[in-house]
Amino acid sequence: MKLAEIHAHCGQCGFNYSRIDTEVWGHFSSRRVMCPICGWTVYEEYRWDGDGSSSLMKRSESQGFGAYRLIPPGGYTGYNAFHSEPDPEVLDNIKDLLTVKGWKGYLSLWSSKEKKAFLVTGHPLNKFDINGTR
Ligand SMILES: [Zn+2]
Repeated sequence: MKLAEIHAHCGQCGFNYSRIDTEVWGHFSSRRVMCPICGWTVYEEYRWDGDGSSSLMKRSESQGFGAYRLIPPGGYTGYNAFHSEPDPEVLDNIKDLLTVKGWKGYLSLWSSKEKKAFLVTGHPLNKFDINGTR
C-alpha cells in the first residue's frame, strides 16, 4: 500500500484526511473510508485475481451526519460516524462524557443547512486541525 492511500479526500466536506481501514480475507479485501469530521463513509469490497488484478465487487456511500471519538481515561477507541440524524439524548451523553466525566475525544456534527461540519466539543485530532477543511 502506498502511503498516500492511508488518507483520502472526503467526498462530503472536503477534509483531506479521511481515515482508511482495510481488511483482507482470502481473495477478498475491503476498504472503509471514513471522514472523522463529517462522518461521510465509503465502503468497498474487492476481489483479487491470481494475476494481481482486482475488481470492485461492492460499493456503498453513506452521508455523514457527524462524527465522534470517545476515549475513556487510560483507554483507546477509534472513530465513529453518524449516518442518520443523531438523537439529542445520544449527543447529550457524548457531551457529558467529554465535558463532565473527563473523557478525551471530540464530537462534530454535519449541518445539512450550511453544508459543513462544525466542532461541538472536545479536540478533534492531534495532528489534523478541523480548520484544515476547505
Ligand atoms: Zn468530511
